[in-house]
Amino acid sequence: MKLLKDRIRKDGVIKEGNVLKVDSFLNHQMDVELFHEIGLEFKRRYEGEEINKILTIEASGIGIACVAAEVFKVPVVFAKKTQTKNIAGEVYTSKVESFTHGRVYDIRVAKQFLNKEDKVLIIDDFLANGKALEGLIELINESGATLVGAGIVIEKGFQVGGELIRSRGVRVESLAIVESMDEKTGEIVFRES
Ligand code: 5GP
Repeated sequence: MKLLKDRIRKDGVIKEGNVLKVDSFLNHQMDVELFHEIGLEFKRRYEGEEINKILTIEASGIGIACVAAEVFKVPVVFAKKTQTKNIAGEVYTSKVESFTHGRVYDIRVAKQFLNKEDKVLIIDDFLANGKALEGLIELINESGATLVGAGIVIEKGFQVGGELIRSRGVRVESLAIVESMDEKTGEIVFRES
């Protein structure tokens, strides 16, 4: 998606540890017009697929997922990272190892919002080592829902997540795949897509 790649080149900041900061339009300040274009592109890529729910993970996936959901005309469910008052048995849970924070945390979705009739598209901002995606897929599997695929805004193609998830037979559509990025020169190379 050219619009997105141009924006990453213009406003993305490469930090040490292979972290791409896109706080000015995606992760902190949010460019909702760009989000709308992203939503349309996900819709185009998943045209013809039956999707009745979008699943994401808090916090940074929520904004994009909401705008995309308006295009798809389906509800969004976000997996929560904090404990709620739900008692055991009322929630699906799985574990996620955070790339950016380096710790393991539980994620959860109330059972009433995910069930075997659902045909789910996962949406998230980044795909790095694939842990967030794996955690979300586990929640879907627990619920018996059908996973249609994943829509990722930025995939870091030099990390293992994309290959890992695709090798499990999951369709992953990433709108910008970063092949390499150089902290010193600021150069970002995208995979042809
Ligand atoms: P994964 O679980 O695939 O390793 O990492 C995915 C999650 O980590 C994303 O939801 C995102 O919040 C965060 N993340 C991973 N890499 C980056 C990065 O380079 N920049 C930013 N801003 N977030 C990242």
